[in-house]
Amino acid sequence: MTDARVNLLDLTRPELEAWCVERGGKAFRARQLFQWIYKRAETDFGAMTDLAKEFRAQLSGSAEIRLPEIVTRQDAADGTVKWMLRADNAQGFEMVYIPETDRSTLCISSQVGCAMDCSFCSTAQQGFNRNLSTAEIVGQVLLAQRELGFKAGDNRIISNVVLMGMGEPLANFRNVVPAMRILLDELGLDFSRRRLTLSTSGLVPQIYKLAEETNVALAVSLHAPDDELRSELVPVNTRWSVDEALDSAHRYFEVTGRRVSIEYALIRDINDHAWRADLLGEKLNARGRGWVHCNPIPLNPTPGSKWTASDPRVEQEFVARLRAHGIPTTIRDTRGSEIDGACGQLAAEEDE
Ligand code: SAH
Repeated sequence: MTDARVNLLDLTRPELEAWCVERGGKAFRARQLFQWIYKRAETDFGAMTDLAKEFRAQLSGSAEIRLPEIVTRQDAADGTVKWMLRADNAQGFEMVYIPETDRSTLCISSQVGCAMDCSFCSTAQQGFNRNLSTAEIVGQVLLAQRELGFKAGDNRIISNVVLMGMGEPLANFRNVVPAMRILLDELGLDFSRRRLTLSTSGLVPQIYKLAEETNVALAVSLHAPDDELRSELVPVNTRWSVDEALDSAHRYFEVTGRRVSIEYALIRDINDHAWRADLLGEKLNARGRGWVHCNPIPLNPTPGSKWTASDPRVEQEFVARLRAHGIPTTIRDTRGSEIDGACGQLAAEEDE
């Protein structure tokens, strides 16, 4: 028998209002309900004391507020936390919490596994399992808040959310966009669009489409400025080239006014050559000024990979060259590698 109850975390606020109205309720009840869920982190309808008893009974019969289940939790010495989660009996997915002095970031997944097959990312090794639902994406944020000790009335603990966990978010557009709308809703978690980042391997048509739907921060995983190497590192490049990816990223900037970031994992002797930094700088500048910044990421080790991070001096030279082209460039901190929680290390393996 299947449980036909609706997980309310699947619904944006307008959808929740329509859902309540269809059942004879008032739209403002839906708004109260939405606030109970997201502002007060309440998952028990019985505790929502300002909602009418009959409405609560009706909700209990037809709906639920269900968070993903935690399979394991690992705490690193630097405060980074990684959880393996599960919403059904299939393979798990992961989220990572990264506290810093001026912010605290939650890195969430959009799919179980990933189909993009990037050669330096360990999520690729498990292949693609399925898309996460909107509820499973939003549920990660609520669950992390709860795990980190959030109580009703507290300020939100997590300041930034990045869709940089497992999966290609734009390959799950249908569930990811509503999830972002829910996270941005001012009656809910009320994240600022600047503090919500979607990272994509470069699904070009979906980047154009995203520009019409939201204005969150966009990061594009470039990793090489030339098609020959990029097709090897990020195979989706054989479908949409470096130039097409950069054109779509630039368009995103034009439509949304949001400066795009270019991710570039620095791999020793593979993509860290000075000429590649110059070519990247030229290609970015050819599309305009002030629209982009670069985010080199020292390669994180993954099982079975022969590649290593660039020599620190080479890394510095790469950064200096980009800056010489006038491209604002900041190296991404490697956090959580001790618990395999850093970029490209999420593989949902249970430790024995
Ligand atoms: N699927 C999304 C998010 C991936 S994780 C995307 O492709 O953009 C965020 C960044 O980490 C991406 O730029 C990804 O390419 C990069 N990454 C993957 N594996 C890595 C590794 N082993 N070391 C460093 N960065 C890595």
